[in-house]
Amino acid sequence: MTVQKINHNPIDLWQVVRRSFLGFCPNCGKARLLKNYIAQIDKCRHCNESYAHIKAEDGPAWLSILLVGHILAPLLLIYEPNATWPEWVSMTLWPSLAAILSLIILPRAKGLFIGMIWRNMQNTIKTKN
Ligand SMILES: [Zn+2]
Repeated sequence: MTVQKINHNPIDLWQVVRRSFLGFCPNCGKARLLKNYIAQIDKCRHCNESYAHIKAEDGPAWLSILLVGHILAPLLLIYEPNATWPEWVSMTLWPSLAAILSLIILPRAKGLFIGMIWRNMQNTIKTKN
């Protein structure tokens, strides 16, 4: 079996990134890609594009952890050494910020991974020899 790269998808990469990051179908951009916060839809309600075969696996969690760490670590290193607030504020503030940022980033990361996998599959056709 060979994998043949073709370029039949007229949808621009950045359009797919924008649509899927915002949680919309990467193909049409009209219907939601996720339901109930993080659950992936099987088929787009608007254009009938199937997403059931796409599995993002641990990618979105990995990206969320990476981004939250890179956002919070510098802030923690800047503010914490000279902090004048009580310890309980630090013990509450940083974990709360990490949880909130994770909850904000995770569905966007999942949409982005699904969109990127979908676009890559659109450009690849498997043929048997
Ligand atoms: Zn669609």
